[in-house]
Amino acid sequence: MKNGIEKKMIKTIAFDNSILGAKWVAKQIADLIKYKARKGKACVLGLATGRTPIKVYDELIRMHKEDALSFSNVITFNLDEYYPIQAHDLQSYNYFMCENLFKHIDIPTENINIPKGDLPEHQIDEFCKSYDEKIKACGGIDIQLLGIGRTGHIGFNEPGSEIDSNTRIVELCDLTRTDAIAQFKNENLVPSNAITMGIRTIMDSKRIILMAWGKNKAQIVNKAICSEITSDIPAAFLQLHPNTEFVLDSLAANEL
Ligand code: PGA
Repeated sequence: MKNGIEKKMIKTIAFDNSILGAKWVAKQIADLIKYKARKGKACVLGLATGRTPIKVYDELIRMHKEDALSFSNVITFNLDEYYPIQAHDLQSYNYFMCENLFKHIDIPTENINIPKGDLPEHQIDEFCKSYDEKIKACGGIDIQLLGIGRTGHIGFNEPGSEIDSNTRIVELCDLTRTDAIAQFKNENLVPSNAITMGIRTIMDSKRIILMAWGKNKAQIVNKAICSEITSDIPAAFLQLHPNTEFVLDSLAANEL
């Protein structure tokens, strides 16, 4: 116990490769969707973008097409979106989600929630407040998927983000913007801001699964699990969450 905060060892599950890890994560999600459907309830998922969750989405699409997994009772809330960006821009997370998951499954369009990157500035605060309120009104997030950035960000909660932060507009770190160049082709085109769920919004989820693949994530995974809990490494706040798992491939687990 330090400063009155109890640190827990985060449960980690390491797979030989990311395909096996992603299939395991997809099965956790599918099992919950089916369980909730049997009870006549909605399943609320918090979704992530980036390279990390793509194989999970591939497996969910396969389950929909081959195993008749239905998403008709699923409500989704995405973690973040660049700002400013148009929803139809190829680099937007709205476009990403449509291409990599939503257009292939039977989720009702009205059940999809993604932060809006094209709002006028004066509407952002109100939008962020209503995003958190809508999550609560839906009963909270049952499973929140996360990747982890090399800055230790979850969503776009960069270092300095506080544990009680809500959904809000943030400035992106240089390292995060550098990692986004491949997507935007040119550094000058990478937006400087984003709208992200806050750390509090994420921590309110009933279950959190953070995935990390590859050796370039090994160091930050080690810090998130082993370092002191500090806003310098936002993912380290997950040490305080009672139901979080890190799902890793052997390369990302290499420094544990
Ligand atoms: P990545 O990004 O999945 O593209 O590695 C992860 C993140 O920044 O959260």
